[in-house]
Amino acid sequence: MRRTRTLAGIGIAAAALLALTACNSGSPSNPGGGTGGDEGGEDSTWFEVASDVQLEGSPTFDAIQERDKVVIGVKEDQPGLGYLDVTTNERTGFDVDIARWIAASLGYDEDKIEFKAIASANREQAIVNGDIDYYVGTYSITDKRKEQIAFAGPYFITGQGLLVGTDSDIESEADLGPDTTVCSATGSTPIQNIRTNYPEVPTKEFDLYSACVEALLSGEVQAVTTDQAILIGYAAQDPDNLMVVGEPFTEERYGVGLAKDDTALQEHINTLFTDGGDIWQAIFDANLGSSGIEVTQPAVD
Ligand code: GLU
Repeated sequence: MRRTRTLAGIGIAAAALLALTACNSGSPSNPGGGTGGDEGGEDSTWFEVASDVQLEGSPTFDAIQERDKVVIGVKEDQPGLGYLDVTTNERTGFDVDIARWIAASLGYDEDKIEFKAIASANREQAIVNGDIDYYVGTYSITDKRKEQIAFAGPYFITGQGLLVGTDSDIESEADLGPDTTVCSATGSTPIQNIRTNYPEVPTKEFDLYSACVEALLSGEVQAVTTDQAILIGYAAQDPDNLMVVGEPFTEERYGVGLAKDDTALQEHINTLFTDGGDIWQAIFDANLGSSGIEVTQPAVD
């Protein structure tokens, strides 16, 4: 069947991720605090909450200490990466756990984290306004964004892909044309890439990728495009109807978004990533280990 062929083409074990996504609701909600864990009784503490942290010259850290709480911008509709289970109120995903790890390194446990869901188009403004201390959510490092904010990282590398219906004839970006409307999120790098490099392809945009997936399922659009790591999560949730096709056709390097002037926080996070390879791997394995995504931790810039 087409699904089998195309998924094999990109090495995706959708069924495996489906199983993983299902388990994710039971993954540690407090991995840093030493109390969470679903690893069959093993010690599942991935990182410790630091104490007596000092971060000289970081306005963000000063604000965090002042309010005694970390405010982190995330996604909550991207399974495997940044996801909120509204029935259990549990947040899961690779990005969410990276966000928790950073908070722990600053001395803040789960009960002192406030997560704020912020859509792709609103990230720079949220950081510039100081509405969040930092952002971890499939946020590609770009020169344009760096005019307003700074990035720590990269901590993950993926590329733009395509999600289509299992009955679709689209096999890669080469099959896109005037009759294939492609959906992506407002303010994202993938929608920009389609507009710039595939001007004949009609586009539709929403704030959230989950809205694009709805539009694909209803037949309003013929494909959803964004980072393959995101699309794999949606395909795994509905493998009867959705499949990822083709090879990644851009490189997306994920960074942690933070205030432009906060070099101290940027260096702190970069050091954490550089020194914390084992923790990075544990977070990857727990969230994306069975997804078929094969990546190693990238070196920070
Ligand atoms: N990584 C891309 C971006 O930062 C797409 C994913 C997203 O919108 O979060 O624009």
